[in-house]
Amino acid sequence: MLQQTQVATVADYFLKFLKKWPTLNDLSAAESEEVMKAWAGLGYYARARNLKKCAETIVREYGGEFPQTAEELKKLPGIGDYTSAAIAAIAFDEPVAVVDGNVERVICRLHELTTPLPKVKSEVRTIVQEIVPVDRPGDFAQAMMDLGAKICTPKRPACILCPLESTCQGYASGSQELYPFKAAKQEKPVRTGAAFVAIDKDGAVFLQRRPDSGLLGGMRGVPTTEWTSEIGAATDARKAPFSGNWEKAGKVRHTFTHFHLELTVWRAEIGQPRNLGDGRWSQRDSLPEEALPTVMKKVIALAIPDLF
Ligand code: SF4
Repeated sequence: MLQQTQVATVADYFLKFLKKWPTLNDLSAAESEEVMKAWAGLGYYARARNLKKCAETIVREYGGEFPQTAEELKKLPGIGDYTSAAIAAIAFDEPVAVVDGNVERVICRLHELTTPLPKVKSEVRTIVQEIVPVDRPGDFAQAMMDLGAKICTPKRPACILCPLESTCQGYASGSQELYPFKAAKQEKPVRTGAAFVAIDKDGAVFLQRRPDSGLLGGMRGVPTTEWTSEIGAATDARKAPFSGNWEKAGKVRHTFTHFHLELTVWRAEIGQPRNLGDGRWSQRDSLPEEALPTVMKKVIALAIPDLF
């Protein structure tokens, strides 16, 4: 949960999640839809799908016991270089290099590494691997991450308090804040699309489940057109998946990791609930409980003010 997300946001989700599924076996046996619901609002939904798959794999292939080396851990869904090393070092005392953004910054400054991110990562990992102690590698990993988070901060690092000050090349030359070097950022493209909020006479909203693969996979949402970077792509009511008195509610903007999205939101009151293909009506009261990603909440809130 903490990947790309701050502790303050995660805390409530984490406690509720553990209360619901206190063990790997519980999570492995849970309904995917329930897991997505518990994750709704946290973003980066692939993490939730991977967490569930990971629990299933550990129960099925490892008898419910976590593997204990970074190499084995990396084979599990959703566990990459950083997480596998962090689990192996902190939980199982394996002397392996744990490198997050904080550690990258410390090492780049210590050695004045001029290779830009993300290329410099492998250089940093090699340097850290050489200094990981066999004794208490987990404490070493956490100390390095804390040093980066609290002392060697991106702006105005507190070098005077830093235990590495006497050996730090960046500090010696006074250029520490220039590191790590970053590759020039590319502008995020803008994608556009239309979203359709159909409401029945009792206020229920028509929702579909998004395909498992792809962005927001497995989450619920109102029907939308494809999101495209094509200039001038149609976002009008003719694109609606079914007929109705579609009225424009406005536009919603949302930023994903790799693009900005601008959705034109349409709403229509559909007299009677009809079978509208792949989807179902969600009663007004149960909408807050649905596995709705933030962008879909924004869309529905624009079409039905005061809902959330
Ligand atoms: S001396 Fe300053 S720049 Fe160097 S590692 Fe410590 S806090 Fe970072």
